[in-house]
Amino acid sequence: MSRPPKLNNDCFALPAGVHWTPVSEALHLLEQRLQCSVAVEPCAVEASDGRILAQSVIAARSHPPCPNSAVDGYALSGGLEAGAQSLELRPGRSAAGEAFAGQLLPGQALRILTGAALPDGADTVVLQEDVRIKEGRLQVIGPLRAGANARAAGEDMQQGAEIFQAGHQLRPEDLGVMAAAGLGEVSVFKPLKVAVISTGAELRAPGQAARVDQIFDANRPMLCSVLRRWGMQVVDMGIVPDDAASVRAALDRAAERADVIITSGGASAGDEDHMSAVLRASGGMALWRIAVKPGRPLALGVWGGVPVFGLPGNPVAAFVCTLIFARPALLQLAGAGFQSPQALHLPAAFSKSKKAGRREYLRARLRDGAVEVFASEGSGRVSGLSWAEGLVELPDAAAEISPGQIICFLPYASFGLT
Ligand code: AMP
Ligand code: MG
Repeated sequence: MSRPPKLNNDCFALPAGVHWTPVSEALHLLEQRLQCSVAVEPCAVEASDGRILAQSVIAARSHPPCPNSAVDGYALSGGLEAGAQSLELRPGRSAAGEAFAGQLLPGQALRILTGAALPDGADTVVLQEDVRIKEGRLQVIGPLRAGANARAAGEDMQQGAEIFQAGHQLRPEDLGVMAAAGLGEVSVFKPLKVAVISTGAELRAPGQAARVDQIFDANRPMLCSVLRRWGMQVVDMGIVPDDAASVRAALDRAAERADVIITSGGASAGDEDHMSAVLRASGGMALWRIAVKPGRPLALGVWGGVPVFGLPGNPVAAFVCTLIFARPALLQLAGAGFQSPQALHLPAAFSKSKKAGRREYLRARLRDGAVEVFASEGSGRVSGLSWAEGLVELPDAAAEISPGQIICFLPYASFGLT
């Protein structure tokens, strides 16, 4: 597959006259305007964890490939009628990987082990605990249903059946399923390359010396790790000072090396908001004033044909906007399609009064079957991100929440984070 053409500068333009874009509308616009931007490559099944399928996966063989035994016991033909009976025990056995070559006749039994192919003529297995061997014969008390303790060929997966759809992001258990279905290699998208830039004159890298008026760059380690969990390839561009020339140079370098650029800080319309100023000057930016808390505007731009997500600098807002807006957009670019988190509807353990007009996300966690929220909604309180295990999503409309009321909880796991 060839790569799609580079994005146009007006790709993120918003309808004229819109002041505050609702979250659902913003998500809809992102879904419409972005498309998969990565090439396809083959990948060994063993190495495919986290990769996104570029083609659906078809079972190369049935699973199990032939009828086999689910237990250690004795194979026989057609089940057993009620009552005590004896069957002729054939010499030999069928073991896993060592099938019995002969044919079993009605009235005969053969030693068989778990996972071994049923011999021709057999369709049933009696458990070894349920029989006695006496004078070369198998003593057993029926009844036993025909087909008992046997696995039919293809009962789990049929050769030729689609077992995964294109766009599915593979997990460890899927690798087991694909191996069982006889696959050695699959077609996947190359990992999306995401450049991460922090902007701000006040920022120091973690571990560096810092003056009291400087702060540490919390966003880059956090965002880079989130992106790696999503199976993306991070291009860490470091910290860029608050001046237009440095921001432009960083965007140039990032656009050469990555499929998409994520920046944090300087995305608003203030004097030192150089990211949005530089993107606007290039003609390729729309400041999306999304009706969401936390999150001031998102600066969505295009630089050298590469999409740029300008996140707010505040770490809480940067994190929430990454989960809510950047994740579905990046997954779309990466070939997995636009995705919404799976919400849990659970009782609140808190009270809150909320005005109409914007959607709100609160840092939250589940305790004793109810959802509690972080004591402070202050978006500077970065420690609340670690206290939390997910987000509460409050609707755009006004709401009066009281304890026991059912609310919408989005565990971090629903955003592909654990
Ligand atoms: P800005 O969006 O640049 O106006 O930044 C908003 C707030 O977030 C300011 O208090 C910044 O100091 C802070 N901030 C910006 N970038 C980061 C970062 N990478 N890590 C921690 N705090 C940041
Ligand atoms: Mg700043």
